[in-house]
Amino acid sequence: MSKNSKILVTGAGGFIGGALLSVLRKQGYQNLRAVDIKPFDHWYQRFEDVENLSLDLNLRENCERAAEGAGEIYNLAANMGGMGFIEANKALCMLSVLINTQMLQAALKHGTKRFFYASSACVYNGDKQKSFEAPSLKEEDAYPALAEDGYGWEKLFSERMCRHFREDFKLYTRVARFHNVYGPWGTWFGGREKAPAAICRKVVEAKISGKHEIEIWGSGSQTRSFMFIDDCTDGIRKIMDSEILEPINLGSSEAVTINQLVDITETIAGIKLKRKYDLSAPRGVNGRNSDNTLIKKYLGWEPGTPLRVGMERTYRWIYDQFMARERGEANVVRESSTSR
Ligand code: NAD
Repeated sequence: MSKNSKILVTGAGGFIGGALLSVLRKQGYQNLRAVDIKPFDHWYQRFEDVENLSLDLNLRENCERAAEGAGEIYNLAANMGGMGFIEANKALCMLSVLINTQMLQAALKHGTKRFFYASSACVYNGDKQKSFEAPSLKEEDAYPALAEDGYGWEKLFSERMCRHFREDFKLYTRVARFHNVYGPWGTWFGGREKAPAAICRKVVEAKISGKHEIEIWGSGSQTRSFMFIDDCTDGIRKIMDSEILEPINLGSSEAVTINQLVDITETIAGIKLKRKYDLSAPRGVNGRNSDNTLIKKYLGWEPGTPLRVGMERTYRWIYDQFMARERGEANVVRESSTSR
């Protein structure tokens, strides 16, 4: 893509969309369009030299407005959150199918050259994730289909739709299955946050309040891998530029238990907390890791930021956000900037 061609990022007011725009700006792309349903003052990162649009992409005319003139589309918009949110909002999660269907149609209509879709490890068959031993999921493990109810089924359907738009209409589509992305400028409170951010916030709260306790959802033995945001944006760009036609894992292969994630956060914070386990809270599958055989074969690369390093940066950022909120500063998760 030339540095002047129009690139659209949907979900740009969210975590990964904001980070991707930040990277594209740094790489010198000049003609960027950012779209999100949220009002501008709720975007996590917003850049004044980008065309920012607040549009509801559930509506077809808004998808068309967003896609107009866009040579490349990164479709990251989705109504989603951590396990607590997706377990309680299955219908809302499934309604993101409107965004994905209509963005594909709009891309086709406007002659978009390349289309990226953000899928999820939640597409994987639940029966293959019953062990706490962090089973590494290969791409083929999405079938026979038994995805996470609601959110996962929508992702599986939409990635399949990308495939058929590629096969039937010759639209260039690329799909990555993200595994738990974390880092600065993500959701860290309010109910949509994911485990790394929630644990950082709880540890900060314990440190500030002097109440040295932490509540953990489930037994803490669930295993996951967590990908740092910089690896995610690198991977998105590499997959978009690649010949990888089928959905591919984009995740770290460094699996830890939730208890180990708490250990890491405690070490960073220099604190030790009494753990209380809420066994009735949403906790997702028992074990999941990213099998990176395919991405290494295609790209000679895999997400490599050590969890300890990424969590250090995330904890520091959440600590600063928390303290800013304590001081009553309004825009604690939002930034407006023209500097690259
Ligand atoms: P996010 O919630 O921070 O960002 C998604 C954005 O989409 C939000 O800002 C939201 O306002 C916007 N959006 C929702 N409905 C919209 C609509 N109708 N019109 C326009 N915008 C709308 O989430 P994120 O972590 O940045 O995730 C980005 C993408 O990656 C999503 O598709 C998500 O499903 C996928 N994903 C993320 C993770 C992760 O760990 N963060 C894991 C797997 C997949």
